Amino acid sequence: MLGSILPFSEETADRVSEYCENSSLPITDALADHWEWTRTRFPDADKMSSRLQGSWMIFTARDRKPKRVLEIGCFSGYSALAWYEGTRDTQAEIVTLEYSKKMIAASREAFKKYGVDDRVKLIEGPAEQTLQTLTGEFDLIFVDANKDGYAGYVQTILDKKLLSPNGIILCDNVFARGLSVGPDCAPWLNDHVRPYWLSCGQALNEFNTNLVKDKRVDVLLLPVFDGVTQIRWRDPATRA
Ligand code: SAM
Repeated sequence: MLGSILPFSEETADRVSEYCENSSLPITDALADHWEWTRTRFPDADKMSSRLQGSWMIFTARDRKPKRVLEIGCFSGYSALAWYEGTRDTQAEIVTLEYSKKMIAASREAFKKYGVDDRVKLIEGPAEQTLQTLTGEFDLIFVDANKDGYAGYVQTILDKKLLSPNGIILCDNVFARGLSVGPDCAPWLNDHVRPYWLSCGQALNEFNTNLVKDKRVDVLLLPVFDGVTQIRWRDPATRA
């Protein structure tokens, strides 16, 4: 196959998602309950990662064995719970950043309910500011907040060397539903959300275009989920 993405129809894409989910390590019952709780409680629940992404997070964390995880964009706490599950071996500290009072309350409730307060630390406030207060290194960093903030977040992470020498940054939604590739790339997107994703697409296209020119890092944009960019130090020894 010379291309990188199969041309699935919308309906087939849903079937493929379900097929992948059924053929992957399952998320825990707690995660499944929390996912369903979020889905039914919040009108903007599509901000939450999918169930299959939860499996991906658990798998990735078990594979990379981070000692510290940083997440920018907590929402209802689903991904933080997945990072927690994936780091039971390493007992990693999970630091998650969120500014919405409503979502801070929802996440805190979930973290208490599922007994993860021992390792999950939620830092409240705009990530543009809270990120600046962080010290030390993180082995796995998940960027999943406001899309017009990605460029600044990644610059800060690299400038402050918050990424450990062999760590990885994972940036979610870098396709902006396809609109970072082109404004005509998501005919299925409804008109209610299209303007929002169009502006995200512009910001993320700029982010994607500039990031690959940054000589400090190796960058890989993968056509999975809504586009995931992986970033690592080009030379972990010097992090020049
Ligand atoms: N990581 C979550 C998950 O996988 O379920 C989803 C995160 S959701 C896509 C993005 C979150 O980032 C929202 O809860 C939003 O309130 C938060 N957010 C947006 N802009 C932010 C900012 N400038 N500072 C902190 N949080 C922000």
